[in-house]
Amino acid sequence: MELSSERPMGTSLQHDKPIYLDYNATTPVDPQVYHAMEPYFKEYFGNPASAAHQWGWIAENAATKARGQVASLIGAKSMEVFFTSGATEANNWAIFGLLTKLREENPTAPIHFITSTIEHSSIMKAMAAAEKMGAEVDFLPVNSYGQVELETIRKAIKPHTKLMSFIWVNNEIGTINPIPEIAKIAKENKIYLHTDATQAAGKIPMNVTEMGVDLMSFSGHKIYGPKGVGALYIRGKDPKVQLNPLLHGGGQERGLRSGSLNVPGIVGMGVAAEICQATMAEECKRLRELRDLFWQTLQEKIPGIRMNGHPTERASNLLNITLPGYKTEGLLPRLQKLGVSTGSACGTGAMVVSHVLRGIGLSVDEVQCSIRLSLGRWSNEEEVLRAAEILKNALH
Ligand code: PMP
Repeated sequence: MELSSERPMGTSLQHDKPIYLDYNATTPVDPQVYHAMEPYFKEYFGNPASAAHQWGWIAENAATKARGQVASLIGAKSMEVFFTSGATEANNWAIFGLLTKLREENPTAPIHFITSTIEHSSIMKAMAAAEKMGAEVDFLPVNSYGQVELETIRKAIKPHTKLMSFIWVNNEIGTINPIPEIAKIAKENKIYLHTDATQAAGKIPMNVTEMGVDLMSFSGHKIYGPKGVGALYIRGKDPKVQLNPLLHGGGQERGLRSGSLNVPGIVGMGVAAEICQATMAEECKRLRELRDLFWQTLQEKIPGIRMNGHPTERASNLLNITLPGYKTEGLLPRLQKLGVSTGSACGTGAMVVSHVLRGIGLSVDEVQCSIRLSLGRWSNEEEVLRAAEILKNALH
């Protein structure tokens, strides 16, 4: 599989067109993915659960192929991949699926979960909900680079710790957590390790079987597949992880995740996974060089600019920067030509300040002066140089 020469609309190269620098929020669907999905909206519309006819068999075969493609990307067996509606569902399922299972086994035993303070909101809020349901949850602090330290984890472990959940690659700052080392600690202490790999899958090589990850969430729309589809990897042996379903119903996904399969989405995620696997090494190198050029140019143009996250242990496609003295609230109207994400956002009238940037020690003021720039498959040199110029010109 090779990268497509077709460029998705909306990532136009024309000089006056806005530049998309928000690939961590979502990626455009790769044209090859889109073409692969199309027949499953049209002639191959069957339900994989329809075992009595060819419409069902065709859909079932397509889902099986995609399961293999997704499993191959992460080094799992096909039967360990369970399709969901996205990483949010997968994260919630890992937490509540385990909590309810443990409760079923022993309704009175104490349950302790460990996570960090800079997880995605779908972990933060699910963990807070688990706490309300009676689980004990520790949100561990991270260092100034955004990594959870192994010693901090070791100290937090209790006899009744059942699950640790740590983000693999942070979505806001790109810092990579030492998941293989954390997995060893989890194994030594017979604790399940879940990782939110939404920003890691397809970007860094991984083999969950060898690394000792027990549960892993990821998503289609961060790897150039469609939105509304994702997966939870559930380790099948050594140990076999037992989760209760989150969704009850027709018994799809071997009884663990009910609901008719999103076949076009699943086909898309499968092809997206295959393209990522085939092109990852080269694409990572290209993006790293592009990101470094971007950072170097920004530093030359903007005195005082700072970069957040780990200097080396970080995603190849991401820059999170602080522009001291320049609040993004005032800056954004002058950045209409760039698709970027900010460290603070006005949601429903209230200012939401990034818990990730706060978690690595930035002040509220600094968070309000921070921007995330994330590159991807259709980013190129011309774009990053132009983006650096636009950013510089916006600062006055
Ligand atoms: N975890 C991380 C780290 C993410 O970046 C995202 C998407 N922003 C999610 C979970 C949620 O993924 P989805 O949109 O597939 O529910």
